[in-house]
Amino acid sequence: MRFLALIIFLLTGFVATAAETNYFCIVCGKGPLTGRVWMSKWGPVCDDCYRLENHCSLCGLPVRAGDGSVKTGDGRFICKFDKANAVLDVAEAREVFTDVRRELVGLFGGGFALNYPDVTVNLFDVDYWSEKGRSDGLHKFGFSSTRHSAGGVCTHEVVLLSGRLRDELVATAAHEYTHLWINENCARQLDADVVEAICELSAFKVMAARGPPGQQQKILGNPYTHGEIKKLVALEKEHGIGCVLNWVKNGTAESFTTAAFAAPLPKRMLAATNVPPPLPEALKLGGLLLDGQNRQAIISGVSFAAGETRPVRLLDRTVQVRCREIRRAEVVLEVDGLAGAFTLKIGEEKFVP
Ligand SMILES: [Zn+2]
Ligand SMILES: [Zn+2]
Repeated sequence: MRFLALIIFLLTGFVATAAETNYFCIVCGKGPLTGRVWMSKWGPVCDDCYRLENHCSLCGLPVRAGDGSVKTGDGRFICKFDKANAVLDVAEAREVFTDVRRELVGLFGGGFALNYPDVTVNLFDVDYWSEKGRSDGLHKFGFSSTRHSAGGVCTHEVVLLSGRLRDELVATAAHEYTHLWINENCARQLDADVVEAICELSAFKVMAARGPPGQQQKILGNPYTHGEIKKLVALEKEHGIGCVLNWVKNGTAESFTTAAFAAPLPKRMLAATNVPPPLPEALKLGGLLLDGQNRQAIISGVSFAAGETRPVRLLDRTVQVRCREIRRAEVVLEVDGLAGAFTLKIGEEKFVP
């Protein structure tokens, strides 16, 4: 059911009339297409392919056998377009982890290196957690653990979800590496929510150092932290990362006591498996539907005619959206609580308050 919701949300639609099409289907190659044509972020899709049962787990594009898509061990599909940027191979995942780790030590200083540097990195699929039957310590797309043995020796392990886009994997790798560092360096029991926020801060710093801005926005807009990450980012900006790390290592409290960090993070940040999220985090123009003079826009899974106002459910709230105008590959929207109108292109996301 969760998968279904995501597919509907991601499935892009755009119908051109028979008369105006000189499109070829990017899934099956058929064309020039007549009748209904669906426009995805990658290009036109014929009506037959639009009805296919299987979809790319990353972008929602329909997939069919022999079209260049791949299937993961747990049955997720990845389209031929996303395949190039998806990490499916453990060697590549290890490379991502090693690069991120080097970057973090560069950003945070030598004190952020591990005393026990060996880390076993593996990829897992969605079934992994149901087999394990546990949710404690589970993060969105990765898991880390440290075994402490005699003489204070630490053995580190990280597992990352396969088949995700490289940029997203980078953020997860930074998050998980930070868990390992905390495991090594913090003898006291920290508030679990504080730990998560610190790990998200690492992800944010790496993404900020690398670009791409979309990923930073994603971390800041992450509804699981209810804005707490923004507070920690501000705190770090004011006092420096050294201050945060020193508090982890040498502090006595289990959670931050400054006013900026007084509000506890919600517990569900830890518990949610979130693979994939049940509802979108941001407004997204999935696609447009053009059928003669009749136009509709699919915004975060809800279809709009021009001039219509409808509620759109996002992950942690519902927003009232008015679709002012539907253009060829974008819409003009107004959202309650936001001053002015803004445009949204196909595939683009907008975080709203
Ligand atoms: Zn087709
Ligand atoms: Zn895709």
